[in-house]
Amino acid sequence: MSLFVPTYYAKSIYDIPLDFYQKENIKVIFCDLDNTLDAFYENEPTKNAIELVEKLKELNIRFIITSNNHGERVHKYASKLNVECHYSSKKPLSYKLNKFIKKNRFDKKDILMIGDQELTDVICSKFLKVRIVLTEPLVKTDLPITKVNRFFDKIIRKMIKKKLLKVEVKNEQD
Ligand SMILES: [Mg+2]
Repeated sequence: MSLFVPTYYAKSIYDIPLDFYQKENIKVIFCDLDNTLDAFYENEPTKNAIELVEKLKELNIRFIITSNNHGERVHKYASKLNVECHYSSKKPLSYKLNKFIKKNRFDKKDILMIGDQELTDVICSKFLKVRIVLTEPLVKTDLPITKVNRFFDKIIRKMIKKKLLKVEVKNEQD
């Protein structure tokens, strides 16, 4: 079961208070794109995403989109948001992201993953041995390829619901 329990849980990336990143000494964020940062059908970054990235830049946090989606989709979105990206990441496999970490000489203790899927994001974080915030998907619809994963995702979340609530990160101002 521990393979599915994330380090932290939040309703969405937009519910994570900014001081959380500072308290946890996060210097690099590997953020999933589809249904984590924006809905999978958004081709352009929304206002929420733009504002969040600006705030994180002010905190000197390196924000990198890491997505299993193809280069064209990820690259276009990331360049509009003016952030780095890693596409076709093959999560939950870790070899591509491990290579990326080595190439950039990142320290794994500085990295935080953020993602909305158990079977890709959370398991990948375990293989990589980095911390992760699991979120709920931003919208209820998914890419067809994600539908099977989502079915199992829901079952897993039900099984570990109590554990998720224990590690939930909330914005106290809400
Ligand atoms: Mg996703």
